[in-house]
Amino acid sequence: QADMAMYWAKENGRDHARFFEAHMANEITDRFRLEQEIKDAIGAQQFYLMYQPQMNTLTQSIIGFEALIRWEHPERGFVSPVEFIPLAEESNVICRIGEWVLEQSIAKLHQWRNQELKVLPVAVNISGRHFVSEGFSQHIETLLERYKVPGDLLKIEITEGVFIHDMNQCIEIMEGLKALNVEISVDDFGTGYSSLHYLKKLPLDILKIDKSFVCEIGDHAEGDKICEAVIQLAQNLDLQVIAEGVETAEQASVLNALGCYLHQGYFYARPLPESEVIALLHHELPILSN
Ligand code: C2E
Ligand code: MG
Ligand code: MG
Ligand code: MG
Repeated sequence: QADMAMYWAKENGRDHARFFEAHMANEITDRFRLEQEIKDAIGAQQFYLMYQPQMNTLTQSIIGFEALIRWEHPERGFVSPVEFIPLAEESNVICRIGEWVLEQSIAKLHQWRNQELKVLPVAVNISGRHFVSEGFSQHIETLLERYKVPGDLLKIEITEGVFIHDMNQCIEIMEGLKALNVEISVDDFGTGYSSLHYLKKLPLDILKIDKSFVCEIGDHAEGDKICEAVIQLAQNLDLQVIAEGVETAEQASVLNALGCYLHQGYFYARPLPESEVIALLHHELPILSN
């Protein structure tokens, strides 16, 4: 296990902070410090969400958004989720983050509905530890009821890492979500622990092809081949398939030719602040049709 310390270093004068490894550090103290900082950050409203559009290239329309957490630390500046999420996942503090993201997303859906916008689904990333925690699907049910949001406006993204947990427990949680009409995506598909047996047995809805494969389209024959295999697999298992990290017209057209019409990536849009999501829902911004 990496000796990750919660010391921070300013990155070459940029207003951007990052964790670095310090082998001399007291891991327990540091972990405690991070946990406390994250709890404080929730209270101090240092977290916020950005929303990245997901496109249907056949209809040239936005089908939904992925909620992505951002941390604006008053002294350290912007901290990337790539840095703090893996550390948070080492303890139950990841559940606090997940609960905040869920409530925030559902509250936003409620607000957008109240503004009589044509609201689109929001997908939330949930870590394995949180997904299998006691009462996860009941908690979602409570939030959906509290904010009067229908379950089909919420999606949950999990990674293949979740499947290392007890299979029957996973099925039970997924069935609970299914009963609420909350769809489940497997994020970063192809990078982790994959067993076709699990894929067939679990009540999943969507596979998200990892961006590391999408970015190899055109570059290396293997990138195309892996995308093609995942698309085939999804079709055979009757799952939807979304390609993430689509950055170029070439990648988009190869994916279309392979029969994958759900795309997410910088080619269409970066993660957007809430104000731009509202403008999109109002059709005040041009539809992102590259
Ligand atoms: P992810 O769930 O796979 O999210 C997609 C990541 O790819 C996002 O990075 C997004 O900004 C980035 N991305 C989107 N389009 C492109 C593209 O065309 N090219 C490239 N190079 N990147 C693209 P982000 O926002 O930095 O998040 C990184 C990871 O952090 C996420 O990967 C997810 O694993 C985690 N994360 C983010 N927000 C949350 C959250 O609320 N909860 C949890 N548990 N994890 C989160
Ligand atoms: Mg995701
Ligand atoms: Mg991903
Ligand atoms: Mg990920």
